[in-house]
Amino acid sequence: MYVELKDINKTFGDYKASDHVSFGIEKGKLIGLLGPSGSGKSMVLKCIAGIMTPDAGRIVLDDEVLFDSDLKINISPQKRKIGYMFQNYALFDHMNVYQNIAAPLKAHHEDKQVIKEKVQQIMEDFQIDDLQKRYPRQLSGGQKQRVALARLLVYDTKLVLLDEPFSALDETLKEQLLNETKKKLVEYQKKCLFVTHSSKEIEMMCGNKLKIKRGRLEK
Ligand code: ADP
Ligand code: MG
Repeated sequence: MYVELKDINKTFGDYKASDHVSFGIEKGKLIGLLGPSGSGKSMVLKCIAGIMTPDAGRIVLDDEVLFDSDLKINISPQKRKIGYMFQNYALFDHMNVYQNIAAPLKAHHEDKQVIKEKVQQIMEDFQIDDLQKRYPRQLSGGQKQRVALARLLVYDTKLVLLDEPFSALDETLKEQLLNETKKKLVEYQKKCLFVTHSSKEIEMMCGNKLKIKRGRLEK
């Protein structure tokens, strides 16, 4: 099993946002998590990324224990080698496209020349090298999406988490970018957990899906 969640619980007061969430993702799989708004999808991703700490449970990624409440293990988000994309892409406004894509490599203290080569290569691959001096406010929704995905894939992450990244886009662009994203994830051989409230998006993106409702996975 590549990613495994075991009995993840998270409560706010007496509300169970995650209620014994358990599942596994096998190697090389693109998995969809489908559920209505407020069902606990983002909670699952935040627990995997380490932005949110579960009350109890165990999370394992590629044989490394990221979180275990019994063993008191809780690896910091920076050390988890996980890429996380939100709906609003979260590009850095004060950085241009080049700097945005270089940011994760810089944060991990990669060699300057290596950074230059990797960023150049991925910008060409994503056909965004002519945008490299632009700032996020000077980009269209689709261009922002491409830059965010390039930034996610430029660094050696073990798992990509996509949290409703297409929800704000119009239908035509959504379909185009979804297909592009899927292609790139396969090309870069990334394991991915894709979250959405739209069953249509799930169908287009993944063969495999889990369903979540009120913090519980449906059997
Ligand atoms: P989804 O992503 O499926 O729309 P979330 O995972 O964001 O849902 O949230 C699941 C539930 O947990 C929601 O009912 C939400 O209101 C609740 N919740 C999330 N974060 C908090 C918080 N910090 N405090 C209290 N309740 C929260
Ligand atoms: Mg959400």
